[in-house]
Order: sequence, then structure tokens, then C-alpha cells
Amino acid sequence: MSSLAGKAGLIVGVANKRSIAWAIAQAADAAGARLTVTYQGERLGENVRELAEGLTDPQLLPLDVTDDAQMANVFDEIEKKAGRLDFVVHGAAFAARDDLANPFVMTSRDGFKLAMDVSAYSLIALSRGALPLMEKNGGGSILTLTYLGSERVFDTYRVMGVAKAALEATVRYLAADLGPKNIRVNAISAGPIKTLAAAGVPGFSNILQIYRDRAPLRRTVDTSEVADAAMFLLSDAGRAVTAEILMVDAGYHAIGM
Ligand code: NAP
Repeated sequence: MSSLAGKAGLIVGVANKRSIAWAIAQAADAAGARLTVTYQGERLGENVRELAEGLTDPQLLPLDVTDDAQMANVFDEIEKKAGRLDFVVHGAAFAARDDLANPFVMTSRDGFKLAMDVSAYSLIALSRGALPLMEKNGGGSILTLTYLGSERVFDTYRVMGVAKAALEATVRYLAADLGPKNIRVNAISAGPIKTLAAAGVPGFSNILQIYRDRAPLRRTVDTSEVADAAMFLLSDAGRAVTAEILMVDAGYHAIGM
């Protein structure tokens, strides 16, 4: 039997075919899950509608994660269509261009709040929305995506590094809160991958090259490799794993010099 057969999942953070969340959606669909996929705004709605033609009976809904009404609507619609929710994939992140381009000390108050709201707080809001549906099923699995810039300084990652540190702490606090309800909360810390979000990080090609030169596996990773790790955490294979930040980065995190 496929690892997610009979399960229903929510995927947030698909912008286009290069998105990590899209690779996870494809893998989850192939593993038998029925999916709700959200998009931010009509511009991306077109992309997501086209991509979703390859999925089995998907539900597509608009969601800006800073909008509480849209968030409530997503869970109402999932309740109506699927009547259950077994997993959530959170792949939304954003920081204003200036806050990634200027020295970190220049980070604006508004830019800090925006990066934190979209990239970290949204995991709390999504988990709260998912809670009643997951409780009804006797549990669930929540997964987010993070980067090593949370722990180490990558000088052009700036405010996003601080937001990822908050996100990883959020994973641990949510895991402690929701664990007694058999809801697991984990993150995958992915190596650098050329996506739309990555294009906003100055000098991204340089980061990729450093991984190729220095990571133990002497390469970067691709979205399908992140998706394979996600299948472990979302399925019953990962049933005893929670509050974990799983490094899927060709081993780069272990390297000092
Ligand atoms: P991506 O394809 O650009 O995905 C990021 C998604 O976040 C986009 O769909 C984006 O939509 C969405 N988003 C931004 N603001 C939003 C909002 N207010 N409401 C809802 N969605 C919003 O890039 P990705 O690399 O796959 O990123 C997915 C996750 O992986 C992110 O958390 C990222 O930090 C993380 N990650 C990426 C890498 C990497 O190297 N690529 C490495 C480690 C971790 P818009 O395009 O409309 O803004």
C-alpha cells in the first residue's frame, strides 16, 4: 500500500514547477494522498491551476498566509470537501527585497515584521487551523521548510535567517503543544536550490558553488530529494519523529573548514 493512501493533505507555497512545495505535492499525490493546494493571488493561481492538472482530484484555494479570513476559509473548504486533514506542508517565506539587499543592521521594522509574519508566524496560524481536523483523525503531521541560515551567518540571507531561527523554535514549541494530540511538527532544512524565492537572495549562485565544492557529497540537492525526505516525515514511517529539523543538504551543515 502507498505510504499516504487514504490521507488528505494541505500544501502551501507552490509558486511554480520549481517550488519545493510542488515537488512534495507530486510525491504525496503519487503516494496516494488527496491534496488541497493553495496559491497566493491570481497571478500564481494560473500557474498552480496548470500544474495541478497532473494531480488526482486536487482542491485549489487562494491563500495569502497573512490573511486570517482566507486562512479560515481554507480549513472550512477542506472540511467540506475531504472532511479530514492528515498533513500540512508549509512552504511559504518572504522578505522584502531591500531587507535582503542592504546590510543586516539596516533591516526595517516593517520588513522585520513582514518576514516574521509570512515566514514564521504563519506556521502557528496554519497549525491552529489544522488542529480540529487533525484531532478528529487522532493525529497528523505538520512540516515546514527551513535553511541553515537560521544557525549560521550567510551574509546575504539577513532577515530571512532570523525568521528561520524563529520558525525552527516555533517547530519545537508547536511539537510540544500538539504532541499529546499525536500531531507531529517537523522541518526539513534543505540545501540551496534555484527557485523563485532563492532568486531573491543576493549571490545565490555563489552559495550553490560553495556547496558543490565543500559539502561531503560534493553536490547540491534537488527538490525531489527534499520531497523524498518529506514523505518519511509526513507518513507513518516517521510516526515517532517530532520537533526535528532534518538536514537534507548533502551534509554541508557538518562542515567547519
Ligand atoms: P518558492 O517556489 O518561491 O516558494 C515560496 C512560496 O512562498 C511561494 O509560493 C510564495 O508565493 C509563497 N509566499 C510568499 N509570501 C506568501 C504569502 N503571504 N502567503 C502565501 N504564500 C506566500 O521557493 P522555495 O525555494 O520552494 O521555497 C519554499 C520554502 O523552502 C521556503 O520556506 C524557503 O525559505 C525554503 N527553503 C528554500 C531553499 C532554497 O534554496 N530554495 C532552501 C531551504 C529552504 P509568491 O511567489 O507569490 O511570493
